[in-house]
Amino acid sequence: MKTRRRPYAEQRPQDLGGGVWSVPVPIPGNPLGYTLVYAVESPKGPVLVDAGWNHPEAWEALSGGLATLGIDVSAVSGVVVTHFHPDHAGLAGQVREASGGWIAMHGSDAALVRLMTEYAASEHDSFQSDMLRRAGADPGEARQGLGGRPTPPAMPDRELRDGDLVDLPGRKLRVLHTPGHTPGHICLHLEDADRLFTGDHVLPDITPHVGIYPYDRDDVDPLGDFLDSLDRVGDLGPLDALPAHEWIFPDVAARAAEIRHHHEEKLVRLRALLAERPVPLTIWEVAAMMTWNRPWDQLSPVLRGMAAGEAAAHLRALEARGQIRRLSGVDLVRFQALDS
Ligand SMILES: [Zn+2]
Ligand SMILES: [Zn+2]
Repeated sequence: MKTRRRPYAEQRPQDLGGGVWSVPVPIPGNPLGYTLVYAVESPKGPVLVDAGWNHPEAWEALSGGLATLGIDVSAVSGVVVTHFHPDHAGLAGQVREASGGWIAMHGSDAALVRLMTEYAASEHDSFQSDMLRRAGADPGEARQGLGGRPTPPAMPDRELRDGDLVDLPGRKLRVLHTPGHTPGHICLHLEDADRLFTGDHVLPDITPHVGIYPYDRDDVDPLGDFLDSLDRVGDLGPLDALPAHEWIFPDVAARAAEIRHHHEEKLVRLRALLAERPVPLTIWEVAAMMTWNRPWDQLSPVLRGMAAGEAAAHLRALEARGQIRRLSGVDLVRFQALDS
């Protein structure tokens, strides 16, 4: 991921007009920098789109930022979360405590939050190392795992489905299910203002992570879903995009088409890479050959694990298109090009 920095002015709380505000909420220690939290006005009190990372500094920025815009966090009527990731859902629980409002997210991500909550409470710990071993990571790296268990965000009070209208009296904020980055990722279409809150699905400069965990799952196709979700957004036309990172940009359809093209090219290169090799490759071998923002050897174990997840998603998409096949051994999974 490459990051192009924009002027500081865009990283301050802003009145975007039409009863929409934005507040940048820092993600301490993360190169992404901040999450853009949006507030949408309604007679029952504003609704937030996402909430930011769970950290005291982030809470200060959120509650303080809202205050400079004339909004008391206790007046918030609800938080609609674009997806369960901690830079989006992290502070939702604290907003709920301060305001008595609701938290809403898509049912598929709510199911993941339930799973994470159960996993955090369980004793079983070999999940990560089993997954890494099967993908072809070397034994030392597999034993190490990918670091600690993630802290689950607050359970939502409301589960959303595609096409639902968010509880926002007097306005029309419609849920567009855009799986890929997560299974329950949603964009939110403010139909009365031709604006689309895009979460992490469509960002102006970088592209979101799309991975498979565990890596060898063959019953899902997140990259295929992601590409379909880009088409769904494209069908809405040239709306203004209000993303959760970077900066606001015009014509979401054009950017969605650009991202689709980027992944299609990556798939063509990956198919060619497998076709050149006489022997089947592990996910780890494939990941090490793909292009990342740093040389493979310089990636930390966590970033390597994410790169492998992304490689797995691309391999699975090629498999779903009938261009490569999977050879599932007892303790290793490999991939091989099929004649086209
Ligand atoms: Zn995310
Ligand atoms: Zn994010």
